[in-house]
Amino acid sequence: MVKQAVESTVNGKIRCDACPVMCYIADGRAGACDRYANVGGDLVRVDPLTMIENTVSAGGKVVEFMPGPEREWDGDIVAAGHRFITAVGAGTTYPDYKPAPFIVSQKTDGVDMVTVVTEGIFSYCGAKVKIDTDRFVGPETALVRVDGEPVGHVTTGEYGSQMLSLGGVHHLTGGGKKEGRVTCEALMRLCNRERVDFTVDGGAALSLQAGRPPVIDGVEEARMRVGCGSASIGMFAKQWKDMVDEVVVVDDHITGVLSEHQAGKLLDVPPTGIRIKGRRSTPGRYFRVAEPGTGWGGTNISDPLTILGAFDPAVARPGLKLLMLSTTGEQYGYYVLDEALNPVLQDVLPDAVRASVETVAENCEPASVSVLFVGGAGGSLRAGVTTNPVRLTRSVKAALTHVSCGGAPAYVWPGGGITVMVDVTEMPAGSFGYVPTPAIVAPIEFTMRLDDYRALGGHMDAVVPIEEAVAQAERRIAPVVERAWPTDRRNFAWGG
Ligand code: SF4
Repeated sequence: MVKQAVESTVNGKIRCDACPVMCYIADGRAGACDRYANVGGDLVRVDPLTMIENTVSAGGKVVEFMPGPEREWDGDIVAAGHRFITAVGAGTTYPDYKPAPFIVSQKTDGVDMVTVVTEGIFSYCGAKVKIDTDRFVGPETALVRVDGEPVGHVTTGEYGSQMLSLGGVHHLTGGGKKEGRVTCEALMRLCNRERVDFTVDGGAALSLQAGRPPVIDGVEEARMRVGCGSASIGMFAKQWKDMVDEVVVVDDHITGVLSEHQAGKLLDVPPTGIRIKGRRSTPGRYFRVAEPGTGWGGTNISDPLTILGAFDPAVARPGLKLLMLSTTGEQYGYYVLDEALNPVLQDVLPDAVRASVETVAENCEPASVSVLFVGGAGGSLRAGVTTNPVRLTRSVKAALTHVSCGGAPAYVWPGGGITVMVDVTEMPAGSFGYVPTPAIVAPIEFTMRLDDYRALGGHMDAVVPIEEAVAQAERRIAPVVERAWPTDRRNFAWGG
């Protein structure tokens, strides 16, 4: 375990100064965040320092290291350059002028590199959550709650997915004490890939876990649609045209109608006299056929016939065959018009029609929950890297410094500051912690050439060889992300 210097002791209790809370900790006890403990008078970081090692002994697969057309893998899986000290378990320094807990140097591919390793304390942070489902989870901007406390809101949906924006400084520090505590805990658990239960005002109950299917109102979502109703008509029109007379793909976004759709027109599908209740956008494409919900295609309907008006008697005919289905193929019905031109649900689905519904379902992807942690590396965090924080920002923007979180590649937003976004499933398990200020603790590493580190005003006196950190690493893991390695020269502007 990593030891931190003890600068003050009062009545046998040592003071932790890894965050502004400044706990006094008795021997054998942990501080308020459970991250630091007093072990026989030593202040230790409880979670093990985590190192990524690209070796078989680490329990990982033998994977190609730095694959790519321009480099041939030489089969070397044990070279010293294949170790990376992550910030998981590294600890935090406070106040800002202190160098980061580990600033390690290593030669990689003939280049002297340095990695600055720290567990950042983020109060400006949150999670963007993508839920693969068409089902209605709640109105845009509706509050998302945990234990009754607001922790975020529903934001604009993406194609085939509903989106939540959780956390953020207003919930962490700008609301009530309980709101901050609950938000912090929910974020930490979600980012640590644990299951968290949410409710949405005016919407659904959600049970979410990164990398797992979402559970909406107690029902596990299985499929993410292949396309909207209109796209489905376009994709499968050829299959349907000789099988049935009409197809309606029910969708809260765009409901598609084969005979009116351009695809049907080009394939000479004759008009059927069908009438759809909804706002016609363009031929064969209808908006708002129903209200959003957890029924067919993300609408609130359980009987698709409710979106149909009476068939036009001048065009329709008895015996006309109609297939109605949802965008995932999860719901479907096969109807035949009777003498009065009313659709009558058939008990038996013709084999070809059943196969076409199965094709729609087969083309869906497994529904999953994606959690991206978003955090801004503030001036204090950057000061642990360099005495000139703005130079670190410029170095990152110039691609001289690569940012990773627990070794996982982080997307750095354009514009000012260093706002990173990272997929929590690519990070080592248990990467996230908290401090009761409240704020989230997340690992972050800055990797660059040693010369570039010197040029940006780095804490050169604090640079140690990687072996010094390796000696303290108690957890060795195989790479979580096989396609990326933080010291890979392709991460840098100079790497070609
Ligand atoms: S909350 Fe944790 S990090 Fe902060 S002073 Fe207490 S033990 Fe140290």
